[in-house]
Order: sequence, then structure tokens, then C-alpha cells
Amino acid sequence: MPIDTRTEVSEMTSPVETASKPPVDWKTRSARPWYHRSRWLWMVMAAVIVGGAFYPLIGLAVAICFLGAILSGPFFGRKWCGVWCPRGNFWDRIMSQAIRKPKMPAWAKSKAVRVGVLIALMGAMTTQLVFAWGDWEAVGRVFVILLTVTTAVGVFMALTGHQRAWCKVCPAGTMAYWLGKGKGQQLRIGQPDCRNCGACGAVCPMDLTPQAMAAADGPTHADCLKCSACVNRCPVNVLWLESGKPAVPSTREGKAA
Ligand code: SF4
Ligand code: SF4
Repeated sequence: MPIDTRTEVSEMTSPVETASKPPVDWKTRSARPWYHRSRWLWMVMAAVIVGGAFYPLIGLAVAICFLGAILSGPFFGRKWCGVWCPRGNFWDRIMSQAIRKPKMPAWAKSKAVRVGVLIALMGAMTTQLVFAWGDWEAVGRVFVILLTVTTAVGVFMALTGHQRAWCKVCPAGTMAYWLGKGKGQQLRIGQPDCRNCGACGAVCPMDLTPQAMAAADGPTHADCLKCSACVNRCPVNVLWLESGKPAVPSTREGKAA
């Protein structure tokens, strides 16, 4: 169940302190980007990697997650990656505990790298599936191997670059990025009240600049995971995700109206 820690934040930091102390200490409980997400979802990925070595059919779950990210893109943007993907949960809940890098490296943001990884991995996956088709255990094994290898690569990218660096190049995320531009919830802000403290950007798992995006009042960056970490971290409560249903209805209704 989501835990609202905004009260703690406002109690911990006076307006003057907040404005003079960016960036926020990410280790405080209220600053964690997995704020309202499941604490155990990453175990699904671990179970598929370990269990898939013995029961390859389990690997078909990877196909469901892969399709989920892509098919939800035109409706929710990259929300799947931010809230429902077990591997996304792993980056935020496990890797961010082990290591936290504030800046997404330039190579992870490169479009060429993004497109290159997409072509390479989709090509490899399609080729293997063509040979495995008809034998569902072999198909499942293809997905288990892909999940295992790409997770190992993602861990390396997390250790050397940024905990969510993999999400910048993940093929499913890339397709959701393209399909989800301007879709789903969009960041909005009560501009006169924003203190430019940077607390929202400090907790963004994709190293975006929430207050700047929201102030532009246009489509939010397509890599936004709609995770609400920035919304929930804002000490003065001026940021919100706007759609038919605000991210935190109890306190956002007035702002979203
Ligand atoms: S939106 Fe909130 S957290 Fe972000 S800079 Fe403005 S006051 Fe700070
Ligand atoms: S901008 Fe806010 S909602 Fe979007 S990914 Fe960053 S923290 Fe999450």
C-alpha cells in the first residue's frame, strides 16, 4: 500500500532549508523513487531467471511483460516500465540500494545506442524464435536466456553508469517510448509556488527534470515512467501528474482542477 511521506518531508525541512539544500539526500525514506511501488515485484524476475533454468516454459512470462510494455505504450506511455515491470522494480529496489548514481551518462541517452540495441536484440530474438517455434520449451528457453543476459548487461550498466541505464536502451522501453509520446499522465506544476529546489529531479529514476518539463506545460518527456516519485517528493506539493485520474487524488484534486 502506498505510504504518503510528504508530511514527514514538510516536517523535516522548512521552506528555507529546502531552497538552500539541493540536491535532496536520496537515502531518506521519502526520497526513494520506488515510493509507492511493490516491494517484491522484482522477485518475479528472479524466479523466472532461476526457475527458467529448470522449467523453460516459465520464460513465456517474459513475452507477456515484453508485450505489456509495448501494448500499454499508446495509452500509458512508459508507465509499465515505472510501475509494473519486475526488472524496473529490480533497478529501483535492489540496484538503487546497492549503488546510486545521480546522472544518466551520455552514452545511455544516445539515440544511436538505443536504436542499435533495439536492432541487435530484436534481430537475435526473432532469429532464435524462428528456430525454436513449435517447441514451447525451446521458445521459453529463448526468453529465459534473453532475460538473463540482458539483466547481466543491465547490472553492468547500473554499476558503471546509472541504475536505470538499461531502461534507456531496453527494446520494449524504446518501443513504448516511441508509441507513448504525449500519452498517459503528463506532469503539471503550480508554477508560482515552485522553489526550484531540485528535490523532484534528485529522485527521478530516469534523471529527468520534472519541474522544467512541467513548467513547459507541454507533453512530458516520453521517458517519464509516470512513477510519481517526483510528485511525492516535492516538499511544497506543487507538482502533479495530470490525466483522468490524478496520481495522488486525495491531495491533487485542487491542483488538477
Ligand atoms: S516542483 Fe517541488 S520539488 Fe521540484 S523544484 Fe519545484 S518546489 Fe522543488
Ligand atoms: S519525471 Fe517524475 S514521474 Fe517521470 S520518471 Fe521522473 S520521477 Fe517519475
